[in-house]
Amino acid sequence: MSEASGPPGTRRRFEPLPEWAGPSTRLVHGIRRPDYNAGSVVPPIYQTATFHWPAEHSEASEKAEAYLYTRGRNPTTDEPAELVRQLEGGESARLFSSGMGAISSVVLSLLKSGDELVALRDLYGGTTDFLTGLLPRYGVHVRQVAGADSLEPEDAVRAGTSLVLLESPTNPTLRVYDLARWAGAAHRAGATLLVDNTFATPINQNPIALGADLVVHSATKYLGGHSDLIGGVVIGSERLLDQIDAQSYLGATPDPFAAFLLTRGLRTLALRVHRQNENGRRVAEFVRGHPAVAGVHYPGWASSTEEEVASRQMRGRGGMLSISLKGGTSAAERFLSRLRFVHIAASLGGVESLASIPHLTSHRHLAPEELDARGIDPGLVRLSLGIEEPDDLVRDIREALDAASAPTASPQR
Ligand SMILES: *Cc1c(COP(=O)(O)O)cnc(C)c1O
Repeated sequence: MSEASGPPGTRRRFEPLPEWAGPSTRLVHGIRRPDYNAGSVVPPIYQTATFHWPAEHSEASEKAEAYLYTRGRNPTTDEPAELVRQLEGGESARLFSSGMGAISSVVLSLLKSGDELVALRDLYGGTTDFLTGLLPRYGVHVRQVAGADSLEPEDAVRAGTSLVLLESPTNPTLRVYDLARWAGAAHRAGATLLVDNTFATPINQNPIALGADLVVHSATKYLGGHSDLIGGVVIGSERLLDQIDAQSYLGATPDPFAAFLLTRGLRTLALRVHRQNENGRRVAEFVRGHPAVAGVHYPGWASSTEEEVASRQMRGRGGMLSISLKGGTSAAERFLSRLRFVHIAASLGGVESLASIPHLTSHRHLAPEELDARGIDPGLVRLSLGIEEPDDLVRDIREALDAASAPTASPQR
């Protein structure tokens, strides 16, 4: 079969779904387009670096839509980006090789020397390292806001600020920020608002509907959902994403196989997150009353203001919570060692529950006063709840807490 007379290759456009289609329907049907090779129901993996160059006689419009080279675009990597785009309600979306690839590509593409970026101090550790370690070397001013300042976006963002970067809920203390209010403050100052929506997921929260200009996800977490891939997604306007297409030379391009796994994981995103919301609520309410627990961090529980903001901007509170144990690090380690169904590991958002002690893992580089300022005490345990049975998780956690706090407990491990 000669190229010129063969069937048309895969084109970028997906068959649009009706406006009213909801999240799970979109996740299952949102990336339909004909497969001209074998008529496969499941989108095939285009594990290729390059594509046939459009034929001499093809129309300009056809040429513009053709795939050319995978570092730029590939049908398999476009698919999960399109699913997340529909859920987040943005104009356009791109897939990246990791969450950090997505965040660094956005920031490097939008800012130039002399610009100011305002960010919450309590961002994901990798993001903070990038902002404070690398960006200043390129002449970008990074201003971190924390504590009372972070609650007054009108003061935190000022004329001359170019980009504002937020997460809500935050890691590991699950603080909730008013995204609509931050969007208003950013736009009045002429700044772009970028929200890392990894913890909330598009099932629980849609920052673009609240006024954000760009949303980023570590697809490694809830979107993939099975702890078996690394990826990132950026969603926003066509205009901003065209600027970010500098990705093409920054090179944080996903591999088609990781993108295929991500699409497969995304099919069940809504089902998983609903169960994780339920598990989060059940476990948070249970541990709050346990005598071994000094405090519980759960979205909306920090204050009545945060509760009001959370109920306004979130449909569910997610599957992340942190427990502060009486008895510090040794109590936290005893608790972890007694859990049956909760793996001790970094990361989050998978089908399996994970636990970590932030001051020994994700936040180990911080000085004691920094840990203190962030509410990360030595007995703090962060939990990412999976999709196990709610009763089984509560039972496992109850038994581990009882054992960890029993006065006669012998130190075993
Ligand atoms: C994990 C994570 C990232 C970084 O994503 P990678 O896929 O690991 O590069 C960014 N933001 C948040 C909130 C995360 O949890």
